[in-house]
Amino acid sequence: MRTLFLSHPRYRDHLAPENHPEQPERIVAIERQLEGEAFQHLIRDTARPVTDTEIQRIHPAAYVDHIRIQAPHDGLMMSISSDTILSNGTYEAARLASGAACLAVDEVMTGLVDNAFSAARPPGHHASARQAMGFCFFNHAAIAARHAQAAHGAERVAIVDFDVHHGNGTQNIFYSDRTVFYASIHQAQLFPGTGETSETGIDGNILNLPLGAGANGAAVLEAMTGAVLPAVEAFRPDLLVLSAGFDAHFRDPLGDLNLVEADYGTLTRALMEVADRVCGGRVVSLLEGGYDIDALGLSAAAHVSALMGH
Ligand SMILES: [Zn+2]
Repeated sequence: MRTLFLSHPRYRDHLAPENHPEQPERIVAIERQLEGEAFQHLIRDTARPVTDTEIQRIHPAAYVDHIRIQAPHDGLMMSISSDTILSNGTYEAARLASGAACLAVDEVMTGLVDNAFSAARPPGHHASARQAMGFCFFNHAAIAARHAQAAHGAERVAIVDFDVHHGNGTQNIFYSDRTVFYASIHQAQLFPGTGETSETGIDGNILNLPLGAGANGAAVLEAMTGAVLPAVEAFRPDLLVLSAGFDAHFRDPLGDLNLVEADYGTLTRALMEVADRVCGGRVVSLLEGGYDIDALGLSAAAHVSALMGH
């Protein structure tokens, strides 16, 4: 498989207070894991900033400006909503993270690569069109889905989110949009409190599978193969976008699910099988959460290894 890996050094300039879980070291840990020999055939590139056209398909210009203007200078940080923190480098990092999502879509949709993984921060799936929250400012998965439609003629895009938290922002953005299917497997009653099974969108374009605390990899795989994958297959997307959070790992400090790193390889291969059947294997995977630094590196490596066909 030709697998594209995207990152950027400026992701480290999005700073967070010392005890904040969403730290620059997260990206460093993933990059370190991908230095091994098993990853020598990864196609590596750096992110580009998202264009105004691309970002404004999801976020109004006034909201984007609001984030830009709010960002403090120097080494200061400011809270924009509870634990969502802006530093001097945040705006540029967030624009690169959205741009990486679009670049990954470009390369996958034109067949330059088979699939892609973007290790970016800040994450995106809690951001709504006009609301930053949960460490997220711009919704990269949503921007990627719209980019596939607007720039590459995709009619339908499926987004599958296996972060331990519900992607409320992505759900909000596409709640009444028949052209985008959003499915989330997440821990019930965890931040942000949404993602009940009763939230089904329009004609079932939203699918939520909340799991109780303590659920393990087998339970997540059962939800994936029993419910999410048949729904993705029935939707017949032209592209599969993954909101790839690794905070369902048993060592993660923010969740209480019990996955091990190998489970991410199994989940990824199951998703790729469906993508092979319905959309020529086109998968664009975007990093969301994952806050135990070692577990994040190992889990992302298992995910990327699977994307590479190992
Ligand atoms: Zn999360």
